[in-house]
Formats: sequence, C-alpha cells, structure tokens
Amino acid sequence: MHELSFATIKDIKHGIETKKYSHNEILKYFLQQFAVHDSKIKSAIEIFDEQSILKNFNPGGILHGIPGIIKDNICQKDRFISCASKMLENYKATYDATAVDRLKTEGALLIGRANLDEFAMGSSTETSAFFKTRNPWNSQCVPGGSSGGSIAAVAAGMVPWSLGSETGGSVRHPAAFCGVVGFKPTYGSVSRYGLIAYASSLDQIGISTHTVYDTALVYSVIAGHDAKDASSLVQLHKKDYTKNLTGKIPAGLKIGIVTNAIDNADLDSQVRDLTMQATKVLEAAGAKVIPVTIPAMDYGAATYFIISRAEAASNLSRFDGVRYGYRAQDSKDLRDLYIHSRTQGFGKEVKVRMMIGNYVLSAGFADKYYNNAQKVQGVIRQDYQAAFKECDVLIMPSQACPAFEFGKFDNNKLQMDLQDYFLCSANLAGIPAISVPCGFTKENLPVGFQIIGPHLSEELLFQVGDAYQQITDWHMKYPTF
Ligand code: GLN
Repeated sequence: MHELSFATIKDIKHGIETKKYSHNEILKYFLQQFAVHDSKIKSAIEIFDEQSILKNFNPGGILHGIPGIIKDNICQKDRFISCASKMLENYKATYDATAVDRLKTEGALLIGRANLDEFAMGSSTETSAFFKTRNPWNSQCVPGGSSGGSIAAVAAGMVPWSLGSETGGSVRHPAAFCGVVGFKPTYGSVSRYGLIAYASSLDQIGISTHTVYDTALVYSVIAGHDAKDASSLVQLHKKDYTKNLTGKIPAGLKIGIVTNAIDNADLDSQVRDLTMQATKVLEAAGAKVIPVTIPAMDYGAATYFIISRAEAASNLSRFDGVRYGYRAQDSKDLRDLYIHSRTQGFGKEVKVRMMIGNYVLSAGFADKYYNNAQKVQGVIRQDYQAAFKECDVLIMPSQACPAFEFGKFDNNKLQMDLQDYFLCSANLAGIPAISVPCGFTKENLPVGFQIIGPHLSEELLFQVGDAYQQITDWHMKYPTF
C-alpha cells in the first residue's frame, strides 16, 4: 500500500509540515487515485486539471495543500455546477460559496465536483441525471445519498475530505453506507451562501472525512457567521474545534440511547446490534448511559416529506428556461417554453417533489398538510429539548439497513421514508449530528451510529466521536475495489 493511501488530513498535514511531501506531490497522488479508480466508483462529475487547481491555491493556511471534493450543488467560481440535473448541466457558477471561499483561503485544493441525487433529492445517488455512483464496499450497492459522490470519494481513498449537503440526512446517510464520518452542523452555523437551495429552512453544508478529528478541522475552517446568509448565526465566532480533542470522554458525560429508534420494528437487526455495541464502548470508557425517548421523531419522516417538498416547489420555480438553466428549443410561446424547459430539464423525482410541494401549499390543503407539519416540527424540537435536559448527547442508528442494491427500493415509498427516519428529525430540529463508523455486517457492509447534541454542541459531539475512534478501529478498515 502507498503511504498516502486512505491518509487522513492530519497525516497529510504532518507530511507537508515535516517536508516529507510537497503540496504538488500530494495533489498528483490524489489526482492519480481518481484517474485509476473513479471509472469504477464514478464519484465525480468532473475532476479539474492540475493547472487550474493550482491557480486557485493560496499557500499557508490550516488546510495548506490538502485536496478535497465538493458536492455539485455548492458553487465554485468559474466552474460548472449542475446539481446532477440536465436543468443546470451547462451552468457556470459566477461566485464562490462562502464555505468554498473559506476553504480556499485556508489553502485547501479543490479538485472537482461530486455526483449527487438530482438537486439533492434521494437516498441513493440513483436520481443523478448523469450516472450512478457505486459503493466502494460493494459495487452492486448504492453509496447512499444524496451526497453519494462526495462520500464515496472519501471512502475509496481518492480524497481525504469532501463537502456534501444535508436537508434530511444526505451526508450522514451515505457516510454510514460507506464506512466514513458524516457530519451535519447546527442550522445556521455554516453559511448557505452559494449552496443551491432545496429546502432552505433545513439545508446545511456538511462534511465527510475518515476521522472525527479531520471533520472538526474542516468545520473550524467553514463555520462562523456570514453576513451574506440571513439565517447565519450571528453569535458564532470562529474557533479551533480540534483544540479540546483529548481522546477522552468528558467527565460525567450522560448519553441517552433513543429507545423508540432502537425498538423500531423495521430497523435491521445487525444495525441495531452494532449501535448497541458502540454504546457499550462509550459506557466502558466512562459515560453514563440512560434510556430516553423522542416520541415525535416517529412523525419526522412524514413532517420532513411535507416541509421539504413545499420549500422545493418554491425554490425550484426559478428554473424556468428564461433566467437560469436549460431552455427547450421547440416552444411556440412563453407558456410552452416554461412547460417544455421544465419537462425536459428535470428528472422524475424532482418533478414529483415539486408537484407534491405545490399540492401541500395550495389553498384548502395548506392547513391540513403544511401548517400541521410545521406544528409537528415544533413538537419534535420540544422533544429533543426535553431529552437534552436528561442527558448531554443522544445515540441512535444512522441507517435503517446496510447499503442496498441498485433499484431495490425503486417506487417503494415506505422504504425511502425509512431511510430518512433516523436522520431527518435532527434537520427538523436544527441540531448537530455526526455519523461515525461502528462495524460491519456479516456481508461486510459498513454500519454507522449517530451522536446527536443540542444546538451548538459541536465541540462535545467531536469529543465523544473522537474518543470513540481512539478506542475502535472501524474507520481504519478500507474497501478493496
Ligand atoms: N433522503 C432525503 C431526501 O431524499 C435526504 C435529502 C437531503 O438531505 N438532501 O429528501
């Protein structure tokens, strides 16, 4: 094995600081990884050429010379940004997302655009208009979604970190399916400026890496107030989230194991067992574990379904063939132009979501659906707040089942809702959550568990996750493909 294979950011930083490698050597190595492996994994929509990557290089920052890939719904100036949709296939970003700008300022090398479910809608990356990404652990299986490209690239060792986006679990889900760390921060802590909107009140940029330490490092770079995003948290100042990662569980830590999630009859038994084992590891390391319930979580997937579709219908109305994106050629008049452009430009999943969104917002139905969903969202928030009076962090599974085969859940709404069940309530509550690898099924597919905390408890989540990774080595098992 090459010394740099599956290297973490921490390893690479050390290599650069001790002059073992130059940033040029690092970049060449990872570009070569894509050249060799990505025809199989298909994680990237585009890998940029070496020269243009280096043109954007600002030496000297926290991420000096560390390559990463960006989900293709986050703007990188003068690069195409497609959202894996025909609608935006030939659209170029005219500015950097704030997160991208901060990464560049700190010396990161942004090497490409990662595949996703079209407009981040899905749990398998199968709805991409371009191609399907494969799970590095089993090429017959999906990588999860919607940030499947970003996460598969890290899991396959083609890059040490990536950005994805979360509206209802889209970083944690593929991270659990592919055996890497996936993190969704507190709503408002990372600027959404330059993230193409799906459901704005839920959308957050998230991070994937091999280790919790690396995630904390990338978060230190991208988090913090941004005047360009009105929902950005004013009180959040920049800090180094790696500083207190001692590898120890904070003294007196109380963990709540979410029993209604664990007891969900549809949860795969191997995922349940591995989540319970992870809890035991933390208990043995000194944490006190108590049972808690988040009763309203059982309505999370239904609530997420309504709110996300409603906001999607409104956000995606801007793609009309006039102002942005794909324009149909064969139209007689303006109405025809709208209809043809949207019919030809969007895939089926996106169209279904917009139709449902318009339905749940329409006069006569909004009270029954949208307004009720917002009330339930309030109850979910209260349930989490009540739980955090009893404990510091919560644990539950990240996934309903291990990575599934392509096509297995086509048109199976119940299964797709189940994929969201364990994840989307954190988005609805606006709280941070991190998925950490905790073992493998008998079929050798990775499994992850989640650590969830109250608003702005990122530092604590990283401490608990880092302590877990100091004791276990699940994150150091790598796929062969
Ligand atoms: N699986 C969810 C969905 O299809 C999550 C999407 C997301 O977080 N972007 O909506």
